[in-house]
Amino acid sequence: MTDVFTKDQRSSIMRGIKSKDTKPEMQVRKALHALGLRYRLHVKDLPGKPDLVFPKYKAVIQVRGCFWHGHRCKVDHKPKSNKSYWIPKIENNIARDRKNDAAIKQMGWRLFIVWECECRDNAKFTHTIEQLYSSIVMQT
Ligand SMILES: [Zn+2]
Repeated sequence: MTDVFTKDQRSSIMRGIKSKDTKPEMQVRKALHALGLRYRLHVKDLPGKPDLVFPKYKAVIQVRGCFWHGHRCKVDHKPKSNKSYWIPKIENNIARDRKNDAAIKQMGWRLFIVWECECRDNAKFTHTIEQLYSSIVMQT
């Protein structure tokens, strides 16, 4: 893979992911901000109220928690108890995500989804940010 970042840019990204407690959405926001991207947050008049909106590039990012959005990955540990509570909730979320994702794409926006599990590991996160950055900025 070609290196799209300068050394400074790369260390900015790394700085953003140093603290373990940072929520995935904040990690993504910090990393892309450090790369010079500017965005609007939680835009209410777009389907799904996207977490990050890049009007200039007609792109949005949704950062999704693996459990509540049903990613079925390693991070997505389903507890054995209280199934009658969380199963319908997660199914609702998945259905709503699907509807909103289709709606926003229909409107001509490019949608990028970042999963919580992609932010847990530094190498994976850096890779995710690289891909996001190049898709958003370079392929308009
Ligand atoms: Zn996941």
